[in-house]
Amino acid sequence: MNNQKAILYLIFLIMTSCAEQKEEPIVVYSYVEEPHSYAKPNNAFIEHLNLDITVDFKNERIRGTATYDIVSNNSTQIILDSKHLEIDSVTADGKDTEFSLGANDKLLGQPLTITIDKNTKKIAITYKTTKDTEALQWLKPQQTADKTNPFLFTQGQAILTRTWIPIQDSPQIRISYEARVKVPKGLMAVMSAENPKTKSDDGLYQFQMKQAIPSYLIALAVGDFEYKAISDRTGVYAEKSMLNRVYEEFSDMENMVSAAERLYGTYAWEQFDVIVLPPSFPFGGMENPRLTFATPTVIAGDKSLTSLVAHELAHSWSGNLVTNATWNDFWINEGFTVYFEMRIMEALYGKERADMLALISRQDLDDELDNLKDTPNATKLKLNLKGKNPDDGMNSIAYDKGYLFLRTLEETVGRDKFDAFLKHYFKEHAFSSMTTEKFIPYLSTNLLEKNKVNFNVDEWINQPGVPKNQAIINSDRFKNVEQTLQEFLASDKINNEVTTDWTPQEWVHFIRNFPQTMTDDQMKTLDKIFNLTNSTNSYIQMVWYEQALNHDYHGKNIDSKIQEFLVSVGRRWYVETIFKAFKRNDRTEDALKIYEKSRPNYHSVTASTIDDLLGFEPDQEEVKNIE
Ligand SMILES: [Zn+2]
Repeated sequence: MNNQKAILYLIFLIMTSCAEQKEEPIVVYSYVEEPHSYAKPNNAFIEHLNLDITVDFKNERIRGTATYDIVSNNSTQIILDSKHLEIDSVTADGKDTEFSLGANDKLLGQPLTITIDKNTKKIAITYKTTKDTEALQWLKPQQTADKTNPFLFTQGQAILTRTWIPIQDSPQIRISYEARVKVPKGLMAVMSAENPKTKSDDGLYQFQMKQAIPSYLIALAVGDFEYKAISDRTGVYAEKSMLNRVYEEFSDMENMVSAAERLYGTYAWEQFDVIVLPPSFPFGGMENPRLTFATPTVIAGDKSLTSLVAHELAHSWSGNLVTNATWNDFWINEGFTVYFEMRIMEALYGKERADMLALISRQDLDDELDNLKDTPNATKLKLNLKGKNPDDGMNSIAYDKGYLFLRTLEETVGRDKFDAFLKHYFKEHAFSSMTTEKFIPYLSTNLLEKNKVNFNVDEWINQPGVPKNQAIINSDRFKNVEQTLQEFLASDKINNEVTTDWTPQEWVHFIRNFPQTMTDDQMKTLDKIFNLTNSTNSYIQMVWYEQALNHDYHGKNIDSKIQEFLVSVGRRWYVETIFKAFKRNDRTEDALKIYEKSRPNYHSVTASTIDDLLGFEPDQEEVKNIE
């Protein structure tokens, strides 16, 4: 379905009293008010992008031309979002046209207003990125796995695509795209589109994304990597030294796609590949359609952290197919995705494993509710992020409260009915956007009233905290873990046979539940028996290092291990957790010393979070460039 068809619109005919005048249809598009974009899509919107760019590693710039097919509602201008871009020239249907860049907002950037007439079909913008461009991370060979070639990746979500392409950067505006990307010879380029499987001889790559997607899902990675197919429609990209490990780790991907399709309908994007990026990638994964971007920290060697792939795959329905209309509706993307992720994990690995993941989600939610206890409005599913960075809403509320809401609904109406509802929801709203306000009556009509069920939907969505009617999540395996911990605390002894078949999730549960009264000797004992400080599982490392800071534990050279971890890994969740522990335990000075070394390795998304957390001021030069 193309963009226009996907948009619900009303046509009002203006009937004039004068018979000689022509009847002019005025189309009123139903884009909703969007606090994080300057675009006025009800007047004029973009429909298709043809991107022609050169990736210049030497100067760390992308330059080229973005040509758009546009639809204008008799408008004399079209407004795009732009941030830290140099705009060289703009044409409308091939002729130079006037354009202006408005005042710069630190968060939103500048509106790029382009003069058009009511017949304009195409606009073309020739531009360059600058060194302040936040979406791009340029990595030196040293920062990659193979250490021989530079690497570039983009991160568009939430409002960063406008920092590498001038665009209407709102999740409710969908476009198809094609691209011609020139990179240095010997490197490969991939996008959220139909991708090459081998390198080109001349460094030139062509891409096509036929389905209409929101701008935050346009993505590009350039580096020295290779492809290995898992099945006809799944496979992995990684640097040479990692390719086989990545392939083994993700070898269940085809089974995951099949399991997901059995749940909620046909996979709409044909190909599902994953590219493993260098460790500075700020997220666990990013659900760029056809090609998920992933952190190497999930390559644990035992498939124990692959729920991340299930999560990104689930986004192929919730998020990529049915998209939150604004960032205030972020739970529409993430709550559904966590729910779907759990269902995929259950289908593939059984209820026991899914229960553990669900209980971890429940505990993450409790921690977040505690973090946000002074700002209860931030614990509503429907947010109000006007004037704030949409990243502020990317916390456990959207993910884990959203999940708990949907799981409670499932348990209330029964799984079969809930599954039928979800399948229909995805099908009916495919390739369109969803607001919370539109979802509520849809849910009432199609699930609750139909099944004569009373449910406090408004309390879940528009009130702070978690309502009393909530699914109770239990895990027998976690109960055993808790018992093992209690026995250890009482006796200082632990039988390591009990722990031999523990998954990292059980280890995480064990470690996270250390009481404040845990002694240094007890920490030492555990470290001696299980060598936790030198764990190679990033998830266990994160929680163990956090507890080491909470308990002022310094054994086994752990301080240098923590530093090494923070300098090499840029995954925001991990580094934020550890830096928070430094701060909580009055060691902000130590944290700042490490941060000075680690910050150059972080993507802007991670750096801006940690800057705020530690009160770090980037040096004058950088400040000047940001303003
Ligand atoms: Zn997600």
